[in-house]
Amino acid sequence: PKLSFDLYQSIKPLKPKTRPLRMALLTREPDNYSSMRLAETGRERGHIVDVINTSRCYMKIEARAPEIHYDGKTLPFYDAVIPRIGASMTNYGMAVLRQFEAMGAWCLNPPSSIGASRDKLLAHQLLSQAGIAMPVTAFAHSPKDTKDLVGLAGTGPVVLKLLESTQGRGVVLAESKKAAESLVDAFRGLDANFLVQEFVKEAAGADVRCLVIGGRVVAAMKRQAQEGEFRSNLHRGGEAMAISLTPDERKIAVAAAKRLGLNFAGVDILQSKNGPVVLEVNSSPGLEGIEKATGKNVTGKVIRFIEQKVRTLGKRREIN
Ligand code: ADP
Repeated sequence: PKLSFDLYQSIKPLKPKTRPLRMALLTREPDNYSSMRLAETGRERGHIVDVINTSRCYMKIEARAPEIHYDGKTLPFYDAVIPRIGASMTNYGMAVLRQFEAMGAWCLNPPSSIGASRDKLLAHQLLSQAGIAMPVTAFAHSPKDTKDLVGLAGTGPVVLKLLESTQGRGVVLAESKKAAESLVDAFRGLDANFLVQEFVKEAAGADVRCLVIGGRVVAAMKRQAQEGEFRSNLHRGGEAMAISLTPDERKIAVAAAKRLGLNFAGVDILQSKNGPVVLEVNSSPGLEGIEKATGKNVTGKVIRFIEQKVRTLGKRREIN
């Protein structure tokens, strides 16, 4: 496979039923496992997959004919866009994605859903509105009453998280109220949003990643943190293994993805003593860990879901 950004030149349109789809894979990391697998698998199934660097897209915005330009060329119509937009590109990436939508493309995850999943405050609020169980969580920015804030997350140990963090970097455990209060005092000076969350001790350093495609869990893995570590992120040395889910776990993962409007999502849950609780919903879940842990061709399922969606949409367009 080619390891760089590449654009296929126009192909002649074939008959609607048999023609391959034209897909755009939006990413700034064409060489990572997930990008390569998505591009390869799409091409193996006969589609055209253009790998497009989100940050290099520029757009013409006007009332009638929206355009996206890339390296001096106007991008063609795409049947489907697979967004793999990194956290640092969320805003610009969403704008590019909206532009693709305006041009008639179907997006695997809609831009507003990606925005909601990236905004942890909003995501928590949406999930709680839908009655989806989560660890008890208090949000704050610059609270004056530290004690009161910490008290909201219950009487036991708490986890504090800086909201701009990823890969478990800004996540710390405070065993005592005193420790939690000094952390809050430190965070206050950072001009950052953070949360204080009940520590789910029973999870014992493990969380469960559920991969949801089109309203179904297609693969799940358990990630176990290293000895002496409560964060199970694979980047922090966590270990992954396949797991079969309980019906409740399946249900909550599907409900969380649905509430955020994500067709493709990685839903992280903790196994608490009161049943599964949702920790986070990721709109660009990585494929490497889950495919290696489960041996499942998750990428193939993503591509097949896209085919099915675009083709039924196409039929509807023909009928109307
Ligand atoms: P990030 O998005 O930076 O990965 P997370 O919120 O997913 O941060 O937290 C990282 C890891 O820490 C999780 O995968 C989980 O293993 C652990 N963890 C996070 N919150 C809690 C909690 N409230 N109780 C127990 N463990 C937690």
